[in-house]
Amino acid sequence: MGLHMQVIIALLLGIKRNGHIFIGLILGILTGVFFPHSSYPQVYNILNFVGEAFINIIQMVVLPLVISAIIIGISNIGDSKQLTKFGSKMLLYYAIITVAAVSIAAGIAIILKPGISAINLVNPDVAQNVQGYVADAIQYQKENLVQIFLDLIPKNPFSALAEGKMIPIIIFVSIFAIALTKAGEISRSLIAFFESVFAATMKVTDWIMYLAAPGIFALTATSVASFGVGVFNNISKYALAICLALAIQFFIVYPLMLKLFSKVPVGKLFSAISEAIMVAFGTASSSATLPLTITCCEKRGISNKVCSFVLPLGATLNMDGTAIIQTIAVIFLTQMYGIELTPLLIIEIALLAIVASSTSAGIPGAGMITIALILNGIGLTPQQLVIGFSLIFTIERFFDMLRTICNVTSDAVVAAIIADNENELNYELLCGQNAEQKA
Ligand code: ASP
Repeated sequence: MGLHMQVIIALLLGIKRNGHIFIGLILGILTGVFFPHSSYPQVYNILNFVGEAFINIIQMVVLPLVISAIIIGISNIGDSKQLTKFGSKMLLYYAIITVAAVSIAAGIAIILKPGISAINLVNPDVAQNVQGYVADAIQYQKENLVQIFLDLIPKNPFSALAEGKMIPIIIFVSIFAIALTKAGEISRSLIAFFESVFAATMKVTDWIMYLAAPGIFALTATSVASFGVGVFNNISKYALAICLALAIQFFIVYPLMLKLFSKVPVGKLFSAISEAIMVAFGTASSSATLPLTITCCEKRGISNKVCSFVLPLGATLNMDGTAIIQTIAVIFLTQMYGIELTPLLIIEIALLAIVASSTSAGIPGAGMITIALILNGIGLTPQQLVIGFSLIFTIERFFDMLRTICNVTSDAVVAAIIADNENELNYELLCGQNAEQKA
């Protein structure tokens, strides 16, 4: 059976197992179609409240989870030789996945040329609505590349914590965790404290998942209600390019990676993480999905040692879905504005997309702010492209939901490969019929 068929069957089985979330998702789409924001603002407001509340509740556990997971992950790995091995493997696999993503995205955008046909489709009303987004992007591109890297080093870890800046937090916590393991016996009680924090946040995540169906229903309904389905006609080639690139990444690249670098059965892994995939789609946030990604992977046999190290770092740094959309969006804009796409320019866009995507936070819309980094890198400003931006933003939320699926899935794929390579994967749990009961 083809690898992509195994993925499709696994997802269908996973959806069957998590039927309540899937029903929430379908009902959400239907509600969004039949109650558009413009005609039913009250319905929209109620759903928006429920959806936002759900996202806030999940985000509540993200900080304690990331901090405790990284500390446990690094202290479990223990000696620095093993840590370097784990870390370099993780970076290598994340790099392969992201390079594949931008290459596919650039190839498809060059073949389909979505920007050429969109040049006449300017909608001035929508352009007005997106002024806010463009202003954010302009603000972002004011900071130069060096400053962006400097900002990643936390001067004050507590202000980084208060502001929820994930990369600085991860840098600080990783250094702190390495120091704890080096300090020896004296740090045992502090590590035990973080083990309790981790266990408690996972328990809270279990409780939150009872709210998943109504939460996903409300989130999907509000996003469909706010863009309306008719808008797809206007930028169909752009939409097609994105869907195609994301589908290739999801159905071909991930299964191929699993086949090439591990013995992990493709279908079993996708079935194991189907719940996280649906929540990623509904929330459009890899950070908010992180607790569930960890739960799904651990329940199905990937060791805590791997999950607690690879997944929190991946949810922040590994954004291949975001890199795909950023690459296609920038090529779309350059085509729309008649800029010649030389091979050098294409390579520059692809490299900048790798940097810009990994500096994007795992929250809704982050990728469309950091896209300014790519534009700035190729000498453009978002002000010049306001009409192009307005087109992109008409369906941005929906594509955010789709790219977050890739961002989350690729983290789990890399975790599974590393677990397989390092004998940290319980195949009985991954493949067993009653895996969930055992866990
Ligand atoms: N929403 C994406 C995520 O959380 C980030 C982005 O591309 O906007 O993974």
